[in-house]
Amino acid sequence: MKPEKSVKPERSTKADVVVVGGGIIGLTTAIRLLELGASVLVVTDEALPARTSSVAAAVWYPTGVRADHETTVRASDTYAELARQAADGVPGVTLGPCRMYTSAHDTALPWWATAVPGLRPLRTNEANGPWTEGWSFDAPTVDMPVYLDWLVTRFLTAGGLLHHRRLNHLSEAAVWSPLIVNAAGLGAGSLCGDPTMTPIRGQLVLVSNPGLRTSLRVQDHPEGYTYIHPRRTDVVLGGTFDVNRWDLFPDPATASAILARCTALEPRLADAPVLSHPVGLRPHRPSGPRLEHDPHLLPTTPVIHNYGHGGSGVTLSWGCANEAARLAATA
Ligand SMILES: Cc1cc2nc3c(=O)[nH]c(=O)nc-3n(C[C@H](O)[C@H](O)[C@H](O)COP(=O)(O)OP(=O)(O)OC[C@H]3O[C@@H](n4cnc5c(N)ncnc54)[C@H](O)[C@@H]3O)c2cc1C
Repeated sequence: MKPEKSVKPERSTKADVVVVGGGIIGLTTAIRLLELGASVLVVTDEALPARTSSVAAAVWYPTGVRADHETTVRASDTYAELARQAADGVPGVTLGPCRMYTSAHDTALPWWATAVPGLRPLRTNEANGPWTEGWSFDAPTVDMPVYLDWLVTRFLTAGGLLHHRRLNHLSEAAVWSPLIVNAAGLGAGSLCGDPTMTPIRGQLVLVSNPGLRTSLRVQDHPEGYTYIHPRRTDVVLGGTFDVNRWDLFPDPATASAILARCTALEPRLADAPVLSHPVGLRPHRPSGPRLEHDPHLLPTTPVIHNYGHGGSGVTLSWGCANEAARLAATA
């Protein structure tokens, strides 16, 4: 495939690896590469923090991904890393109680259960209106704007380099490095010619925190996606999962419906002042995240793909970064 239009990169900048993308996937991968001793340049087409990653509700939970062993390992590695970071006091990362409600006929152990220490069935006194069944566990929760800032600082402090450039094709990144990591989220598809990349729009409501500590989620709410994720000063209320919808404008009727569903689940939200209506596009790949060494896309420069994490980019981030760095070390 030919690049549509070339950019004028600063050719003088050279690194062992160039990572295209400065969202949660690009930054975690770039940090793991630095830890392996590589020099790393991150290229992004937007000012950081990356929009999609900063909008994420960012609770550890495998959403809309293949239910298999590979995903469980990536999710499990990420859980362990985020739990360690929460214990170390990394800004924006906490480990807090979460109740996940399921419909009464669906009481099977979740497929990802082995990734989560201490998962247990809900007790009778944890039922919530019609929601009587489900699971309790501690979930890492990330305040993304705060955490992404910390990741950028960690990357730059460790010697990483950052450029803002829009690329039209991955081949344009070869001027900076003999090895390219494609971590461009929704943009990755056009950069490498993957037509399956699809947006899944998510709309949220942020409200002031009236004193909540426990995350609540209803897996199969008949009226739509429903979750309540308290952070330090605010609460993330969700949400939507609008397949193939590109617009970024918050829809007022959707916002009212989210508030109504969440308030029914947690009445203390009734008077919480609304702070904002974030909207983002999940980078969905129907066959699952692409994490592989691709020696064929470009004639002389190997590419490691790490994109297409859909609604689970935070949940899989560190696990995928570990794998991508291992692939880069042997590419
Ligand atoms: C409403 C909502 C709620 C969510 N909640 C959760 C959750 O609770 N848990 C969870 O795990 N996940 C959640 N997600 C999903 C998560 O946000 C994504 O999976 C994750 O942010 C994807 O990260 P990324 O780094 O791949 O992409 P992005 O954050 O989109 O980053 C892509 C990067 O690539 C760069 N780029 C793209 N194209 C180009 C180009 N042509 N040239 C140069 N640079 C380029 C961009 O500048 C950007 O820096 C949620 C998403 C949304 C929208």
